[in-house]
Amino acid sequence: MSANSKNTSVTYGLDIGGTKIEIGLFDHQFELMDSWRVSTPTHDYNEFLQAIADLIFEADKRTGQQGSIGIGMPGILDKNALVKSANVHCATGKPIVTDLEMLLGRSVAVANDCRLFALSESCGGAGDKHPIVYGAIIGTGAGGGLCLHNKLYQSSNNIAGEYGHLPASGHLLAKYNLPVRECGCGLTGCSEAYIAGPGLGWLYNHFGSGTFSTIQFVCDLRDKNPIALKTFACYMEFLGSAFSTLVLSYDPDVIVVGGGLSKIEEIIDALPNAINAHLFDGVESPVISSAVFGDSSGVRGAAILGRQHADNR
Ligand SMILES: [Zn+2]
Repeated sequence: MSANSKNTSVTYGLDIGGTKIEIGLFDHQFELMDSWRVSTPTHDYNEFLQAIADLIFEADKRTGQQGSIGIGMPGILDKNALVKSANVHCATGKPIVTDLEMLLGRSVAVANDCRLFALSESCGGAGDKHPIVYGAIIGTGAGGGLCLHNKLYQSSNNIAGEYGHLPASGHLLAKYNLPVRECGCGLTGCSEAYIAGPGLGWLYNHFGSGTFSTIQFVCDLRDKNPIALKTFACYMEFLGSAFSTLVLSYDPDVIVVGGGLSKIEEIIDALPNAINAHLFDGVESPVISSAVFGDSSGVRGAAILGRQHADNR
């Protein structure tokens, strides 16, 4: 084994959240060997960088190697490679890649966590063996990423994949007599306000249930409660419309769905027909699959990005 291949045979994937940073240590086949978490320092940027460096140095000690490094985080790196993050305030506006590479003395790859979910599912996950894979999260937000032949499609603004911030269908807003909602991103009328978890809860309350709880919604749906059935019909039209824009834009072979709402099997089962309703005759929904890796997608996708980045240098 050459010194070089030994140096890159393990890979570290880091998933940075607003409260915890998780690191996963992966072998050359992306099998998880070890993982642990620390609290995220959100107020002091140097403490934040040092927390990441400490995880890497501990990983080196445990593996006896210097693994390649990939990092996923919410928000994006803008086209000047500066962080825009809603939940790690101290990193906003900072050149995290440059700073970490200085601190660690090795290359680092960083991407949005929803994009890395897509990459993880494209490589060995539910999208494996399909050339064009779209990974879509429907959870507290709605974001995703496009993978072409097991590589994440990366763009100059690093924004490609943010399907939740495409406009909601005006036709559906009129059909259900719904107000145009503000979105947390600062835009107005985004799909996310209707299709992410809080959007589903909002719809359920709006139609008269008296609750925003999506857990209650699922119970009521299974009891065939009329308000839950109406909410479900409306929700699936918005979700089908949003996913039809993915088909019209990218025509993926498979859409892998993850996030909290993907665990509601009624949604996954109804999705192909809901997409087809918004496509031309003769155009069919791609395969819809539930994510294989679930909550471990963050660290796994980051590790795959880190390995691919190191291999390309
Ligand atoms: Zn938005």
